[in-house]
Amino acid sequence: MKFISTRGGECVTGAQAIAQGIAKDGGLFVPETFPSVSEKEMEDMLTMNYAERAACVLHKYLDDYDFDGLKAACEKAYSKFEEGDAAPLVKIDDSLYMLELFHGPTCAFKDLALTLLPYLLREGCNLSGVKEQVLILVATSGDTGKAALEGFKDAEGVKIMVFYPSEGVSKMQKLQMATQEGKNVNVLAVRGNFDECQSAVKKIFTSEECKEELKSKGVVLSSANSINFGRLAPQIAYYFSAYLDLVSSEQIKMGDAVDFAVPTGNFGNILAAYYAKRMGLPVGKLICASNKNNILTDFIRTGTYDKRREFYKTMSPSMDILISSNLERLLFELSGREPKRVKMRMDKLAAEGVYEIYDEEREELEKLFWADFCGEDETVETIYEFFEEYQYPMDTHTACAMYAAANYMAGEETKDGNPMVVVSTASPYKFPQDVMYAVTGNDIKDSFKAIKHLNIATAMKVPASLSKLRDKPIRFKETADKDKLYAKVLEFIDKK
Ligand SMILES: *Cc1c(COP(=O)(O)O)cnc(C)c1O
Repeated sequence: MKFISTRGGECVTGAQAIAQGIAKDGGLFVPETFPSVSEKEMEDMLTMNYAERAACVLHKYLDDYDFDGLKAACEKAYSKFEEGDAAPLVKIDDSLYMLELFHGPTCAFKDLALTLLPYLLREGCNLSGVKEQVLILVATSGDTGKAALEGFKDAEGVKIMVFYPSEGVSKMQKLQMATQEGKNVNVLAVRGNFDECQSAVKKIFTSEECKEELKSKGVVLSSANSINFGRLAPQIAYYFSAYLDLVSSEQIKMGDAVDFAVPTGNFGNILAAYYAKRMGLPVGKLICASNKNNILTDFIRTGTYDKRREFYKTMSPSMDILISSNLERLLFELSGREPKRVKMRMDKLAAEGVYEIYDEEREELEKLFWADFCGEDETVETIYEFFEEYQYPMDTHTACAMYAAANYMAGEETKDGNPMVVVSTASPYKFPQDVMYAVTGNDIKDSFKAIKHLNIATAMKVPASLSKLRDKPIRFKETADKDKLYAKVLEFIDKK
């Protein structure tokens, strides 16, 4: 399987696509065709465990990787999840299910990809002949940074440095990063908000001068952000796995359509569901849920993507985003795989902050997706009402998806009778104050106290990785101005 850029001619192997991260023309790598999964293969996957299912799905795209190597890597990665299942499906009610993706080392769904990415990257470098040390730079609004640090800690031949905005992550997220263990890791707070932090990091990535200097030190840069195909591919697997679980527990018959509701920020998670559909998984509607930053809702409803709007900080910070970078991969498909059209729109977005798609593209978009957004009050109400009815606590991001799913299922014009799987992207204990407030009305300032009280109120088990944080020493305290990042990178590289 070859990979091509959404913006032009580049054509590479899977290993190169992952090692390189982003195409030279600034586009994203997409598979040349969508591999299909036959009914026989689906039947065979029914009896497999999660790691085996994931290896089968991954190998469809990464056929230059050795299958047994992939399988061993999946087994190792997913053995780090609590309860021995990386993606359990929980039945809530007739036709309503939760796909819990928060049982990994950092309690958010990004673990599903980032526990595996170190292997995919190292093997990608081996297969494509990259011999230098790899330096991974990550700008994070919270969850990606910690999951990447945990995934890459003490990995051979790799160093990782994470930058987070000094005023943009939750207390728990900050503590998770500041206490990170590992010899090859570094964490730096950057004065300013996430956009400023991200553009400062991007500057290093796009500077030929920096890249030359690093190369002379035997170092190449790579990215663990969700534009890397190595982040996307492992996410496709859990949609297959959820479907297979529905079949094997006799909730549905093989071939029945299932809807998925996904809390969306950078459009990576929901795009993986779309890829699963293109591979032949019987996916009905994809419900794209946003928070108060509802740019994607407007886009799916109107066909106009307009980022000239206010940015809100919400209680679901991992969805506070105005430029959903993975949307470019969907635009590529909607356009009938016209790189010129994709490039034109991305240029227009950069220059004017807005673009529109054609009517026939919008019709196709509407067939595939349905969108809704959930405000702050609605987030609190959804968590509260759902807990009252089902005694099931959910996090603030998941609540946005549940809210949208409920509206879809209740709408006379939208409801389709398909089972609905709501994708749960974080443990409620990752945002304990907000969830505690939603469930009980109590406003608790201290995160660990909130965890304790939430545990009493809900009886849900506290993830060990979060309760342990309290006693861990703080290793990273430094804050830097955004024009100092490259100097800090050099300091980190030169440190023995
Ligand atoms: C990253 C994240 C999201 C958004 O996922 P995208 O792939 O960026 O759309 C939603 N919820 C949580 C908890 C996250 O960490």
